[in-house]
Amino acid sequence: MSRQADADYDVLVAGGGAGGIGAALGAAKAGAKVCLVEKYGFLGGAATNAQVLAYCGFFQQGNEPIQAVGGAGEQVLGALRKLGVGAEPYHSETTGNWIVLLDPERLKVALDRLCAEHGIDVMLHTRLAAVSRTASRVEAATLAGMDGRSQVGAEAYVDASGDANMALVAGLPFRVGDEEKHLQAGTMPMRVGGLNPSVKIDREAIKAAVAAYNARGNDPIHRNDGGIYTRVPGSGDFWWLIIDREMTDLSSRTFTRAEQRAREMALALVDILREQVPGFENAWLAQTGPQIGIRESRHPAARYEITHEDVVEGRLREDGIARGAWPIELHKEAGKPLYEKIGARGYFHVPLDAVRARGLDNVWYGGRVIGADSLAYGSIRVMGTAFATGEAAGTAAALSARSGRAPAADQVREALTAQGAII
Ligand SMILES: Cc1cc2nc3c(=O)[nH]c(=O)nc-3n(C[C@H](O)[C@H](O)[C@H](O)COP(=O)(O)OP(=O)(O)OC[C@H]3O[C@@H](n4cnc5c(N)ncnc54)[C@H](O)[C@@H]3O)c2cc1C
Repeated sequence: MSRQADADYDVLVAGGGAGGIGAALGAAKAGAKVCLVEKYGFLGGAATNAQVLAYCGFFQQGNEPIQAVGGAGEQVLGALRKLGVGAEPYHSETTGNWIVLLDPERLKVALDRLCAEHGIDVMLHTRLAAVSRTASRVEAATLAGMDGRSQVGAEAYVDASGDANMALVAGLPFRVGDEEKHLQAGTMPMRVGGLNPSVKIDREAIKAAVAAYNARGNDPIHRNDGGIYTRVPGSGDFWWLIIDREMTDLSSRTFTRAEQRAREMALALVDILREQVPGFENAWLAQTGPQIGIRESRHPAARYEITHEDVVEGRLREDGIARGAWPIELHKEAGKPLYEKIGARGYFHVPLDAVRARGLDNVWYGGRVIGADSLAYGSIRVMGTAFATGEAAGTAAALSARSGRAPAADQVREALTAQGAII
């Protein structure tokens, strides 16, 4: 379906997280020849590279699980179920939110299989390093992989890199952090093995362990409530979000220091858990990382920026191509999250222009890089929503590759609906 005989692919997607998987599946289902490049040796994005072990955004907040994301996201849940992961909505009585708990190893395989079933050319260990462009289009991408550098051409491109790395190398404008250039805190999730399976975890004892850790003069932990934790399905490991690090910028040096400190903190914390929390007598630090979880980085300029009002008013639109259903969740200060509900029906529409790059005609955005102000970003960044925005971006990219021009919103909506997406 390529317009130019010499293009290698119709659509090239950078980043294999929820946004990139959504984009690759959406483009493939719309008939495109798709290449998906991912810098790590596995797919899944933050779910597998930072142990973010729960999908948020698939369901609206409330007493019943009303599904807000279908299509590619639903296919991923189906692929997980085939591998024996329940992938059923789990309700938090305190927040009213619904999440889907994950098993990262089975998720990696589920995503490999789904991409293979859809004929997607996946290139792992491959980083999008540069692009060549004209005034209005990206012409080719330079990929840096295990075998050195290579150049591939595509008709359309999706930046689903989370950090807007394609926009960065293409020289597109972007904002770092919020309107005051302040980045949300990063968090190093950790997994602790060796728990006694018959002991119920006592939150008061966890809180006391964190207080003891702080009293010993370690880098302070600000989550005095004991943080967020659960037992990982299958292993029964203790999965814990407790270590936050302020990120002052996006340099390799800042990342390195944050990760080095977080690893030290994790080891020290587990020592204290072992000493004083019932059930943790034989606990060990099973894993941190592979990288610190990044909530926020670059926001490239899109043709529309979803606003705080769009979210809290639950605004619906004729050019909507996806639903956002997760309440605004902000981590401006480490350990002190703020929440705000979505109004009206409990979801809002993401318009097509929010997934379209400003400044280049054949570049689309999927996942947390889509256009949003700093408050709306607190909602759209979750992985359930990222599948949906990614699928819309990939589908629009495929339609544009076929016709040579950007599709109208109703064409994208029609294609997405045929693909099982919920709009
Ligand atoms: C601590 C923490 C807790 C969170 N909790 C939750 C939660 O419970 N539930 C939830 O749904 N969301 C949660 N989030 C938010 C969510 O994880 C992210 O916003 C989401 O993963 C965004 O998806 P994405 O696909 O846009 O980006 P990512 O998941 O970051 O995926 C981007 C992918 O692009 C790859 N990549 C980057 N640059 C390049 C390049 N140049 N070339 C090739 N590949 C590249 C990366 O390796 C990565 O795989 C949390 C985030 C953090 C940090």
